[in-house]
Formats: sequence, structure tokens, C-alpha cells
Amino acid sequence: MDEKMPMQKLLNVQRVDLRIMDLEHQTTVIPRQIQEWDNSLNSHREELRRLKDGAETIKKEQRRLEHDLDAKQTELAKYNAQLPQIKTNREYKAILVEIDAVEKRISDLEEEVLMKMAEVEEVETGIKAKEAEAQKAQEETEREKEKLKQKRTELEQSLEGTRSERKDLAADVDTTLMVRYDKIRVRKGGLAITQIDDESCGACHMALPPQLVNEVMGGKIKSCPNCMRLLYWNEA
Ligand SMILES: [Zn+2]
Repeated sequence: MDEKMPMQKLLNVQRVDLRIMDLEHQTTVIPRQIQEWDNSLNSHREELRRLKDGAETIKKEQRRLEHDLDAKQTELAKYNAQLPQIKTNREYKAILVEIDAVEKRISDLEEEVLMKMAEVEEVETGIKAKEAEAQKAQEETEREKEKLKQKRTELEQSLEGTRSERKDLAADVDTTLMVRYDKIRVRKGGLAITQIDDESCGACHMALPPQLVNEVMGGKIKSCPNCMRLLYWNEA
């Protein structure tokens, strides 16, 4: 039992190291998650801006048509005022043709103005809906960002506690063994110790020489010849 103690201690270090890795990973993805919420909110705002720009364009067209309509109505009033002063039948007929044309144009413009008004109304309904949607998105974003920030604080606290736990556990392991473990851990990006699984390495699955398996079972600290991870024998 005593001979296996170093490996038990090292396994405890690895357990804590893997938890640290997981906590660090969870911490590093939080800024990206916050960014995603912001991006989504920005796309709502951009869509709203686009709709409002569109409404402005239509309103401008409406004002231009109304201006044209005013001008034509002034023109019509001028023709009508001229009528009593007309002397010849020919002139009279000619001015009636003009009046006819202006009236036709007025009628067309009135139609166009009405169409623009309907268009404005439709776009403004769309804007109201989008505004409500953007408002909802903003509230949701603020809520979710708050949650993420809260989570980050909790993760940082967990990390602090876990790192301190790691320090205590590592201090209790033989320095040479600790250095060896750390080298493998860094090289392998995490898992430095693996159990023997059916006489094979539990990580790279290479079949292990029986002699090596026996040595590990006897409490010796050995590496897998293939992946170099430290091996342990799980009695359970
Ligand atoms: Zn291996």
C-alpha cells in the first residue's frame, strides 16, 4: 500500500489539474459568449436602422409628390382664373385642353400620394414591431450578460480555490516525480496519468509488455513506452 502512495497522491493532483483545465476553458469562452449576445443585439439595431432609413426615403418621396401636387393645383387655379377673360373660342378650347391635362396629372399625383402614405404606414408598423423585438433582445442580452459575468466571478473563485488545493497536493508529492508528471502533462495537453486497461495503455491503447504491467501492479511508477504517460493499476 505504501509503495502505491506516490501514485495515489499524483492521481489526486491530476484530478485537480483536470478540473482546473475545465474551469479555465469555461472561463475563456465567456468573453466570446458575451460577444455573441452583443452581435445579435447589434444585428437587431442595424435592421431597425435600415427600416427607419427606408421610411425616411418613402416620406421624402411623399413630400416631393405633395409638392408637385401643390404646384399643379396652383396651375389649375391659374387656368380657371383665366377662363372668364378668354375672348375667342379657339383660345377657350386650348385652355380647356390644358385644364384637362392638369386635372389628369392632379388625379394621378393624388393617387401616388395615397400609395406613399399606405407605404409609410406599412413600414412604420414594421418599425414598431422591430422596435419591440429589439427592446426584448436588449433586455434578454443584458440579463444573459449579467448571468455570464456572475458565472465568470464564480469560475474565478473556483479556480482560485482549486489552484490553491493543487498547490497543497503538489507539495506533498516527490519533486522529481512532480517534475516528470508536469512535463508529460504539458506535452499531452492535460492527461499525464492513465490506467492500465486490459494490459493496454488506457490512453493510447497500445498493448503493454507483461513485465511492465507487473511492475506497475507492484507499485512502480512507469511510463507507457508509446505515449509516455504514467501508468497506474486500478485495483477496482
Ligand atoms: Zn500509451
